[in-house]
Parts: sequence; structure tokens; C-alpha cells
Amino acid sequence: MSHHHTDDNCIFCKIVAGKIPSKKVYEDEDIFAFHDIAPWAPVHLLMIPKAHIPSLAQVGPEHEALLGRMMVLASKLAAQEGCNPYPDGGFRLVSNTGTEGGQEVHHLHIHVMGGPRPWLRG
Ligand code: AMP
Ligand code: ZN
Repeated sequence: MSHHHTDDNCIFCKIVAGKIPSKKVYEDEDIFAFHDIAPWAPVHLLMIPKAHIPSLAQVGPEHEALLGRMMVLASKLAAQEGCNPYPDGGFRLVSNTGTEGGQEVHHLHIHVMGGPRPWLRG
């Protein structure tokens, strides 16, 4: 049983619960990270909070520590999954928010993309 708020119809909540398989790269009490199923770049991960927060439009002061931890985790996971070191390597973080922001899955997620160019998109 999770203590996090979840949404039974959300694909990323199902991934966190293990009801849909994923290629997990990291998990702790509050954060889960896995490979994007349709990568645009040689390394393409998604970092998500375990709690069902729809997007960055819903975050508040109570989420500052969580989001800070995700930002710090990003470079660690990028390196772990094969992104080359800064400054010649590096990575890109993207969090699509809302329809005009290009968001398709309404559970907050941060794309972590990197690896040698060219990429399929971006
Ligand atoms: P967006 O909401 O536009 O930021 O994109 C959602 C991302 O989730 C896309 O890059 C999809 O490829 C990815 N995605 C959707 N379903 C899955 C899944 N079952 N496992 C891994 N990634 C997924
Ligand atoms: Zn969810």
C-alpha cells in the first residue's frame, strides 16, 4: 500500500504501482524514474513523483523540496544512464504542461534527454 495520492485511471500511477511494466532506472520513497517508451534521444528518461500531481500547474510551496530533489537527481540519472559529461555532453530537461505546453500524460513528469547528436526530435 502506498501513502501517496494516486489516480486509478492514470498510466504513470499504474507504472509506479507496477501494474504496467516499465524499465525502471531509479526509485525512492517519493520519486520514480524509467525509460520513455518512445525515446527522442539516445538517453530518454522520465522522472515522476509517486504522488499523482497532474502537472507543474498544480504545484505549490509544499512541493518545493520534492522538485528540488528531482532537479538534483536529474544529473545523477543522466550520468548513470550514459549521458556524456558536461560541458561537451550534458542533457536536457523538459516538463510539458497543459495542452498548449504539449502535455499528453497528465501526471507531472520531467523528461531527461541526452546522448550524442543527432536526436530524433528537439
Ligand atoms: P508528454 O506528456 O507530452 O510530456 O509525454 C509523455 C511521454 O510519456 C511521452 O514521451 C511518451 O512516449 C511517454 N510514455 C507514454 N506511455 C509510456 C509508458 N507506458 N512507458 C514509458 N513511457 C511512456
Ligand atoms: Zn498519476
